Amino acid sequence: MSDYDYINYETLDDGRIARITLARPKSRNAQNRGLLVELDAAFLRAEADDTVRVVILCGAGPSFSAGHDLGTADSEREKQAGPDQHVTYQCNGATLTGAESRTRQEWHYYFQNTLRWRNLRKTTIAQVHGNVFSAGLMLMWACDLIVAAENTVFADVVGTRLGMCGVEYFAHPWELGPRKAKELLLTGDTLDADDAYRLGMVAKVFPDDQLAERTEAYARRIARVPTMAALLIKESVNQAVDAMGFTAALNACFTLHELNHAHWAEVSGGKTYIGTAEYGMDDWRAAPPLRHAARSDA
Ligand code: ZN
Repeated sequence: MSDYDYINYETLDDGRIARITLARPKSRNAQNRGLLVELDAAFLRAEADDTVRVVILCGAGPSFSAGHDLGTADSEREKQAGPDQHVTYQCNGATLTGAESRTRQEWHYYFQNTLRWRNLRKTTIAQVHGNVFSAGLMLMWACDLIVAAENTVFADVVGTRLGMCGVEYFAHPWELGPRKAKELLLTGDTLDADDAYRLGMVAKVFPDDQLAERTEAYARRIARVPTMAALLIKESVNQAVDAMGFTAALNACFTLHELNHAHWAEVSGGKTYIGTAEYGMDDWRAAPPLRHAARSDA
């Protein structure tokens, strides 16, 4: 049924709504290279299809996405030379060395693809639930509208767990506000669905067991807007925030992100490009559970 290994693509309502489902439930939809490349293909497929008006992005299993894949068997296999190596590990900087290799790879597969989805010529709705951690935020933020199940937990834990200044697509200040962005990155604390609603990040909070059907109904309503008006509403808002510096700031912060990786590579003599216990970080595997930002006492 599916043309993909890591996602599902389907259309509803005689093709007016496309639904892309991240389909690695056992890995909580951690984003390996194969998934990201397939996701790009699926977004472009929906974009090319003149019948599609609205795209829903959702996740199968207990969580929308736990972030980048930092070590499942799929992820390790697709990096290794051999017949199972993903083709994108042979191009776009992968055959080069040092910070150049990492910068080129992350630009293509974490940064520019996310920006491309943000600029997709269709209205996009992220339907999230469970954990939305770190790079999971990037997928969600790239969409025009976000709807969340009551059980959703949002966090960017890369500051406290990996010694990094946020994810590659640094939309945090725009989505959370500058002060909240600093707080959440410095603590790794969480927001729940109601917090995200109050911040204006989430448009609707739905009961967990009604998430899919309520999102479909919402998408159906949005799909009634004439396509030209829908496109120009999206583009008017996107161009307005671009005039405020959104895309320029994203580009600048991507280079800071790469500087942060280069720091860890330099202090570790090339052994790691993220912070680890060996180089002064707390061991996050031994850390207590994440705390809710407003309800934690310290
Ligand atoms: Zn990175």
